[in-house]
Amino acid sequence: ILQLFTPLNFLGTVYNALVMAFVDLGNLSELLAEDADVVDRIDAVDIPSSDEYLKGRHEKDVIEFRDVKFRYPTQPVTKGLKGFNLKMKRGTVTAIVGPTGAGKTTISRLLLRFYDATAGSIFINGVDIKSSTQKSLRGLIGVVPQDTPMFNDTIRYNIAYGKRDATLQELEAAARSAKILDFINSQDLGWDTMVGERGLKLSGGEKQRVAIARCLLKDPDVCVLDEATSALDTITESSVQEALNGLSQNGRRTTLVIAHRLGTIKKADQICVLGDGVVDELGTHEELMKIEGGKYKELWNMQLKSTKGEE
Ligand code: ATP
Repeated sequence: ILQLFTPLNFLGTVYNALVMAFVDLGNLSELLAEDADVVDRIDAVDIPSSDEYLKGRHEKDVIEFRDVKFRYPTQPVTKGLKGFNLKMKRGTVTAIVGPTGAGKTTISRLLLRFYDATAGSIFINGVDIKSSTQKSLRGLIGVVPQDTPMFNDTIRYNIAYGKRDATLQELEAAARSAKILDFINSQDLGWDTMVGERGLKLSGGEKQRVAIARCLLKDPDVCVLDEATSALDTITESSVQEALNGLSQNGRRTTLVIAHRLGTIKKADQICVLGDGVVDELGTHEELMKIEGGKYKELWNMQLKSTKGEE
């Protein structure tokens, strides 16, 4: 009987190893944001930290999109970003909203330099990212993606990915701010609980909170949050929201939220409404709601209606 089972076990092991390798490779490229299309220039420079850059300056803008144009090769010529302008001050939260397919996620990909803009420039701390080293760029930015990739490993490993040498205290503080500590402590194995394909399957909201904890540990100058498109239930949504607040409200971090649900961005310092490849409206929630016949107001009313429809 033992002999009969051995090959099956062996196959199982190979299968698991393959699944793990597959998932891990996928995760790695996503997490490290590796893209062969973009290479450092020979004379590439490191982007300074926001602290260094702002020393002695009155101007507090740390990020600027200046007349950025971009189109995916497969997109029709009438589509894409047609001159996108946006400035972000240090320590503020900017939310980008707009209809589906408007290019919100594309803007975050350009900021991370997965692609180079066709025309125009993106400046971070005074450096055009086209002439920056990718290492310094990625070091400055933390990302909470829509669907957070998980390593087939312990929850400790998954969170400590943000900072490999983190102490348990630091891990706990990050998990607490990310509203995931109670969840971890409620598992029999606590921090040693396995997650991923072969372990605990985390919900969308839990995964986002793991990503938030990872990002808190990394403590980057700039944070990009790509909000989950999938509907989270109200309790999960508000705990993710609280966790996000912990991430953006430290007064130093500059946050860009790619917003798919309007409820979560009401408190943003500025809301950028993306229309046909350009900024249609820019302002706070209150300011934009005052624009009669405005795009934001329309989006808001549409969302209110669809939420009511679900109830
Ligand atoms: P949503 O709210 O639905 O997530 P979005 O505003 O984030 O939309 P993007 O994901 O930025 O929109 O996509 C903008 C447009 O570019 C869409 O029409 C999309 O189909 C197209 N697009 C996105 N990624 C690619 C790609 N890798 N190659 C070609 N076209 C793409």
